[in-house]
Amino acid sequence: MSKVLILSGAGISAESGISTFREADGLWEKHAIEDVCTAGCLDMNEEGTIKFYDARRVDIENKKPNYAHKVIVELKQKYPHDISILTQNVDDLFEKAGMKEDEIVHLHGYLRELRCRECDEIFDIAYQNQDSFAHECPSCGAKLRPNIVFFGEAAPKYQILTQELNSCKLIVIIGTSGNVLDVTYFAQLTDKSILNNLEPSNAIDDSYFTKVYYAKATEAIGEIAQYIEDFLENE
Ligand code: NAD
Repeated sequence: MSKVLILSGAGISAESGISTFREADGLWEKHAIEDVCTAGCLDMNEEGTIKFYDARRVDIENKKPNYAHKVIVELKQKYPHDISILTQNVDDLFEKAGMKEDEIVHLHGYLRELRCRECDEIFDIAYQNQDSFAHECPSCGAKLRPNIVFFGEAAPKYQILTQELNSCKLIVIIGTSGNVLDVTYFAQLTDKSILNNLEPSNAIDDSYFTKVYYAKATEAIGEIAQYIEDFLENE
């Protein structure tokens, strides 16, 4: 458990060229949530769902981390025990910036992985199509699925989020509209809080935050990093 929790969403990867979900040109403009990202979609639309995540994997293969990912990786390396990194993102841009697997928690799953629908074994398939990797689980023979938490499904890693929220004193929110996670509530649980988005969101009450930056993450991250360092040095 750490003193500082950095929680990111789709906005932190927007400047690397990965679409956010809710903005004008976002993914939901082109795909219905219920078809590809809602509990049961694998039963109703298996082929379409698998194709959607195959395309997302191809999309992230050549995407590069931006300055915000890199600064956060450096902070984590400098204060490994004082900072926890949790993300709603399913891309691998923090990992490409040098974050180790055990230094980051992907709350909503990880695109590079498939999971067995029966035995829950996880397979890192990098950027391959699901069917090029295997038609069934190499361990038990059951069906495989993208290791993504669909709306309406349990998110087991929220347990880690709850633990971190109970211990952290500063929460830093970057690039999330707050529609999935109630970040206004999180800000009320901690002594200090920072919010960085491009613009205000209907799902966030920014008056609860100690500091608010409406700016690109790559532009705000310098000041945010300085705030975190000052906070930890004075703790
Ligand atoms: P969202 O699309 O609902 O909201 C994006 C937020 O990012 C907005 O508030 C916007 O103001 C902000 N933003 C946009 N560009 C920014 C920038 N350059 N710098 C700083 N902020 C910027 O995203 P969400 O709240 O993360 O929720 C969407 C869900 O979809 C999440 O659960 C996430 O797992 C998933 N998702 C992930 C990815 C990814 O892995 N990169 C991409 C799309 C969606």
